Amino acid sequence: MKIVMLGAPGAGKGTQADKIAEKYALPHISTGDIFRKNIKEGTELGKEAKSYMDAGKLVPDELTVRLLLDRVANDDCRNGYILDGFPRTIPQADALDAELTKLGEKIDYAINVDVPDENIIGRMSGRRACPKCGATYHIRHLAPKKEGICDSCGTELVIRDDDKPETVKNRLAVYHEQTQPLIEYFEKKGVLHTVDGTIDATDVFKAIESILN
Ligand code: ADP
Ligand code: AMP
Repeated sequence: MKIVMLGAPGAGKGTQADKIAEKYALPHISTGDIFRKNIKEGTELGKEAKSYMDAGKLVPDELTVRLLLDRVANDDCRNGYILDGFPRTIPQADALDAELTKLGEKIDYAINVDVPDENIIGRMSGRRACPKCGATYHIRHLAPKKEGICDSCGTELVIRDDDKPETVKNRLAVYHEQTQPLIEYFEKKGVLHTVDGTIDATDVFKAIESILN
């Protein structure tokens, strides 16, 4: 089963992708997490991605597509995967489609987590992330058991550099311009499912389960 998560930055794609990964035993592949890991490790890829990410812009397609296609060629993706934050542009979607077509495969579900812009700023200003394992929390809606500490690995949580309100505004504008057209793209392919992302995360997951079951 191959799943693409769609939705604005902060809509809850990563939160839901984690739940799907756990229940269906599929790898959760977040291009944002891969870039952040590279930044932390100081790799060339990380250095190149950082300036775009800090400005709230997209990392160039060529670099992102190469990275993603390498990742999904790994053995752990044989039974499928969940893509979170990829594709983000029509050329990225076309590149993935071309690769899957070559393999006689396709995306089975594109799940659009729908959250209006007015909810997004609050979601992202309250987001706290684990720099070690990538788990995501919210100071009010999805708080960790111990304030500021990751439930999964005990690491101190951080505010992402690109979750500042000015950057969030840029990211939302980029989303509407370059990523939102993918909703129609996947609708035309007959695999689009939209869920209301404004409700409690547990209820969002119930809606997703009923689509996948
Ligand atoms: P995305 O991966 O789409 O950028 P995240 O999954 O990181 O979004 O979620 C953004 C923020 O909103 C996080 O702080 C997360 O804990 C919180 N969040 C996720 N889903 C919900 C929800 N249904 N209701 C309230 N807050 C949520
Ligand atoms: P995310 O963690 O998905 O919110 O992504 C954080 C940032 O990483 C984005 O704002 C982009 O700068 C970059 N990024 C992640 N995925 C992609 C992608 N598919 N294409 C281009 N840039 C991306």
